[in-house]
This record gives sequence, C-alpha cells and structure tokens, in this order.
Amino acid sequence: MALTVTHTIAELRAALAPKRADGIAMVPTMGALHDGHLSLVTAAKKPTVVVSIFVNPTQFAPHEDFDAYPRDLSNDIAKLETVGAPLIFAPTAREIYPHGFATTVTVGGPSAGLETDFRPHFFAGVATVVAKLLLAALPDVAVFGEKDYQQLLVVKRLAKDRGLPTEILGAPIAREADGLALSSRNAYLSAAERAVAGNLNKVLKDVAARAKEMGDLRDAEAYGAAELKAVGFDSVDYVAIRDAETLAPVSDLRCPARVLAAAHIGRTRLIDNMAI
Ligand code: AMP
Repeated sequence: MALTVTHTIAELRAALAPKRADGIAMVPTMGALHDGHLSLVTAAKKPTVVVSIFVNPTQFAPHEDFDAYPRDLSNDIAKLETVGAPLIFAPTAREIYPHGFATTVTVGGPSAGLETDFRPHFFAGVATVVAKLLLAALPDVAVFGEKDYQQLLVVKRLAKDRGLPTEILGAPIAREADGLALSSRNAYLSAAERAVAGNLNKVLKDVAARAKEMGDLRDAEAYGAAELKAVGFDSVDYVAIRDAETLAPVSDLRCPARVLAAAHIGRTRLIDNMAI
C-alpha cells in the first residue's frame, strides 16, 4: 500500500472518508522523525494512522529555534514507510493559520507552571494547533508521547473540555542506550554535549530514588538541580516532583508522582521525566 501525502484539510478529509468506519488514529508531530515518533505510530493500533508533520510557529517564541528546527519531509516519508504506510498530513502554515486567523485555544489546569514558567507562549500554541489537527482529522484516538508529559496532560484536558470525539493515549518514552530520550533537538548536540546529555535521565533516576528513600521531595529536587550542573549542564530550568495526574505540587508520595526536568546544554534545551 502506497503512502499518501495530503497537504490541505480538504484532501485529508477526502482520504480519510472511505477509511473512517474501520478506525482512525492520529499522531501529531513536527517532523524530523525518529524511533520515538515511530513508536507512537505502532502504539496507535488502528487500521489507518494519520501522521501530521507541521513545525508549528505559534509554539515557538521569537528567540527560540523555529528557523533552525530540522525539516526533512522526504526522510520522514522514508521512515514512515518502514512502519506500515500511514497517511501523512503536511499542511502549510497558511492552511493551519488562514489569513486573518484570530482564534487561540488556551488550557488552564495542567498547563500551569513547569514549561509555562520558561515558555509562557508554548501551551497556547500547542493547544491551538492540536485542536485544529484533531478537528481536521476527527480521529478515534490520538497518540502523544510521555516524553512531553505536561503536554500530554494539557491535550487530554483540551480533548475532554472541548468534547472532542478522540481518545488521547500516552505512549512510553523511547530512549537511547544511555537513557537519553530520543528528540529531534538531540541533533543540535555536539559530541561533548551528547555525552553530558545522557546524564539527564540518570539524575532523574537518582532524584526518584532519593525521594522514595528520604521522603523530603524538596531536598530531592534541589539535589537533582545541583547534580545536573555538576555533570555539565549549563543551566537548569526546573527539577520538580509533581502529582502524576494533575501536576500539582506534592509534599509526599502517597499519590502517583512524576519527576520532571528541563535543562540547557549550549544552545540545546532538553526535557525528560519519569514515574516515581
Ligand atoms: P514533536 O515532533 O517533538 O512535537 O513530538 C511529536 C510527538 O512525539 C509528541 O507526542 C512527543 O511527545 C512524541 N515524542 C517525541 N519524542 C519521543 C520519545 N523519545 N518517545 C516517545 N514519544 C516521543
């Protein structure tokens, strides 16, 4: 079966119409696909999987890496062919943001704090584009990675609050052998930075272990931030232990908790998280 690439919402809907009865899944991405993205396609488990590829300008601040973000549609197509010929939706910015565009979607709840403290524009950009993509395809399920854990909770909130007919599924984080979460932004890392980057996941494991052993969650967070700097990160945006369902701050581990972190090496900002 040949892979189909659609560029407009009308083309996408026409391609999906004959397949709708059998079930449709969507995997929204910004392209520069790696095995983490491909694992979402595999997790989707529907006869038709639409992968959207769109570097969404509204989720980047002016000083961020929108222009530098890696883009390689033909390579993305080749990778998607290896996981069973999904349908691609690769819209232009004009298709997503028509002339005069004036409707922004904002989500409260899980978008408070963490990423928002450092990227205040981010979740409105994500929610606006995800709402548009889900309404374009109206999939039965949409799969998002736990790699962007706060984003996954924001999208779940969005789908529930807007009554979208789509179940939002989270999929586990795909990692390199040393624990580094796969990310399109890993391509920015020099060899020396790449060696440092592998420690992010190791430090999060130590933070989780310390939180469980000692019970002082603020101490475990402070330890994690200091450790990240000690292993070579240039700066740490946050190391935070939160309620895994709501991302509200917690002071003990009686409910399921998650440790989340963001840190910079050179010009690259990396994020990671794990269940405690
Ligand atoms: P992006 O292209 O970075 O916007 O990511 C598109 C989707 O892939 C999001 O749902 C991400 O959470 C997910 N994703 C990115 N990296 C990984 C990874 N290493 N493991 C699992 N999912 C991932």
